Amino acid sequence: MKAIFFDFVGTLITKAGENVTHQNIVRNVLERAGRDDLDVIKVWEEYEAETSSAFRELAGGPYMRIRDVDTRAMQRVGERYGFEVPRDFWEISVSMHERYGELSPDAVETLKGLREMGLHVGVITDSDDDYIERHLKGLGIYGLFDSVTTSEDAGYYKPHPGPFRLALERAGVSPGESLYVGDNPAKDCVGARKVGMLSVLLDPEGKKRGLWSECDFIVSKLSDVVEIVRGLVEK
Ligand code: CA
Repeated sequence: MKAIFFDFVGTLITKAGENVTHQNIVRNVLERAGRDDLDVIKVWEEYEAETSSAFRELAGGPYMRIRDVDTRAMQRVGERYGFEVPRDFWEISVSMHERYGELSPDAVETLKGLREMGLHVGVITDSDDDYIERHLKGLGIYGLFDSVTTSEDAGYYKPHPGPFRLALERAGVSPGESLYVGDNPAKDCVGARKVGMLSVLLDPEGKKRGLWSECDFIVSKLSDVVEIVRGLVEK
C-alpha cells in the first residue's frame, strides 16, 4: 500500500457543514436581491434539489464546469421566485465554502497518521480546481496532501475511471497499491473498483448497507482508515 486518496464532501468535510454553507450562499444571494421576504431554508431546499438533479445526470460523464452548473441551478430557482442571481455568484459560493466548511472531526489526525506512515495522501474530487484549492486552504489542510485531482483536471466526473487513473498516474503508483476513501458507494467505491483500487466506505450510521457490497471496507469513522491501512501495509 503506497497511496491513500480521499473524496471531499461528506468524507473530509461534513455534510452538515456543507448544508450550512449552502444556506449562507442562498442568504447572501437573497440579501443582494433585496428579497428578505423569502424563506432562506425553503429557497435552499429548492437550490439543493436543482443541483442534485443536475449532478445525477452528469455523474460518470464528461466534465462541465461546476460554477456553470451551480449558477444555472440558482438561476432556475431565481426565475421561479423572480430574483436576480448576482454576476459574481461563484465568488460568493467559493467564499462561503472557505468560511463555513467544517472538517470531519477526525480528518486531521487521520491525514497526519497516514502521512507519518510515509504514504502518498491525495484527494480525488468532483470539483472545479479553484474551488477545491481555496476550500482546502480555508480549512487549513491544503499542505497535508501530496496531490489533488479534480474532475476539471481529468475531464470526467466520478465514477468515470478518468479521475482515479489521473490521480494514480500523478502519485506514480499502481491501482493495487492504493486505496480510495469516500461516502458514496455508487461514485466512490464503484469508480475505485473500475480501475482496480481498493475502497473504503465511510458510513457512520449504516444507512448505505444496501450498497456495501460495492466497497472493500466499511468504517463508521474516518480514523478507522489508519488501522485498515496499517493492516494492508503489513501484509
Ligand atoms: Ca462525497
